[in-house]
Formats: sequence, structure tokens, C-alpha cells
Amino acid sequence: MIIQLQDISIEVERKPIRNMHLSVYPPDARVHLSMPAFLTDEDAKSFLLKKWQWICRNREKVLNQPRQSPREYVSGESHYFLGTRYMLIVEHITTGANSVDVRGNKIIMRCRPTATSENRKAQLQEWYRVQLRAVLTELVNKWTDLLGEPNVTWIIKLMRTEWGSCVYRKRHMIFNLDLARVPMECIEYIVVHELTHLAVQNHGPAFQALMTQRLPNWKVIRKQLNDFIAIPIDNQETEE
Ligand SMILES: [Zn+2]
Repeated sequence: MIIQLQDISIEVERKPIRNMHLSVYPPDARVHLSMPAFLTDEDAKSFLLKKWQWICRNREKVLNQPRQSPREYVSGESHYFLGTRYMLIVEHITTGANSVDVRGNKIIMRCRPTATSENRKAQLQEWYRVQLRAVLTELVNKWTDLLGEPNVTWIIKLMRTEWGSCVYRKRHMIFNLDLARVPMECIEYIVVHELTHLAVQNHGPAFQALMTQRLPNWKVIRKQLNDFIAIPIDNQETEE
């Protein structure tokens, strides 16, 4: 069933569930309501009216997210590095080594004319990895010193759903390669977050208190990171 509210069409689906479940999905800010099978159309309508502001706010949020369209790694594309948007310029070379450099607001990639988009993607990711490794080395050293947390190891990996994770028993952290795209303070927040898991494994009050002690504005930074890109944010609201 579709309920039309002003200019927004909302898909309403009855399910064997107990609570209303309202979602806004990227990339087109589609609104979907799952509702308990025993409720009426009128119930759905009044719930949606009550949530009108929430719907508008979250639609706006989704529609304003920077899009990551499929990349081909060709000149003219936008690519983020440490929170700044750059234009990619691909230059073909037939001698000398392939390279990637930042010049002004451009990322200059030099590669063979025969390089495929997959090759160029790999070349850029390798560059991101080297840059991120340097940033993380500094931040991890700074914070392991500050917090007195020695013998920590870490790696960089491409992950789909997490910015970082911590295997606390092994004192080992994994950082998402996509962190190379976000602002430095967001990378620092993830470093402090994962290091804090050495002390507290969940995200409960004790964890949050430690975070506040260590990085007082961590909630603001977290929001900045979630607003930034790529990893889908979950715009969901459930009501009893
Ligand atoms: Zn965590």
C-alpha cells in the first residue's frame, strides 16, 4: 500500500511484527513503513503524521549525503582525501614509474595508457593505503603513549560496514582503508574509539564516559564522520 503525504509517497507494508518500523533509504530517500498486521490504515496514517518532522529531517539528510557514484578512475572525477575533495587527473606515461601526487586541489595519477580502470583503482587505493598508514602511525603512537597502552598492533583493511574494529584479547586493531577519505579528526576519533575498547569492550556508559574523558567532543566528531560518506547510515526509527 502507498500512503501519499504532501509530495512524499510512503510504502506501507503489513508484517507479523509488534512495532511500527519506519526507514529512510539512500540514495533516493525512499520512505518505508513496516507495520503490525493487526493495525488499520488510519493507524498508519496517524503514525506517519506524528513522525512527519522525523521523515523530513531524515530525507533531507539522505538526499544531502555526498554521493559515491561508481568510479571509473578517469580525469575529472572527484575523490576525497583527508576530508578534502580533489579532482582526479590521469596522465599517461610510457616511461618511468607510475605515481600519484597531490597538486593543489588535484590528485595527479600517472600510469600507462594500457592501464584499465581496475588497474587505476588499485593504484589509487595503494596510494591511499600508504598515506593512511603514515597518518595512523602518528595517531596510534600518540594515543598509545598518552593512554599508556603498549604492545598494540594494527592493520589497514577494506571493510564494508565498519570504520574500525578491535580484537582486544590480541590488542590488535583493524582500520578501514576508506578512513583515508575522511577528515583527520575523524581518523583520530576512530583510533581513540578502538583503543578505548582495550579497556571496555562494549559501547555502554563506561565506554562513553572514557571517551568523553579522552576526546571531549567525540560525539560531534562521530556525527561529522557519519554525515561524511560511504558507509551507509541507518536512518531508522522504531516505536513501541
Ligand atoms: Zn566500537
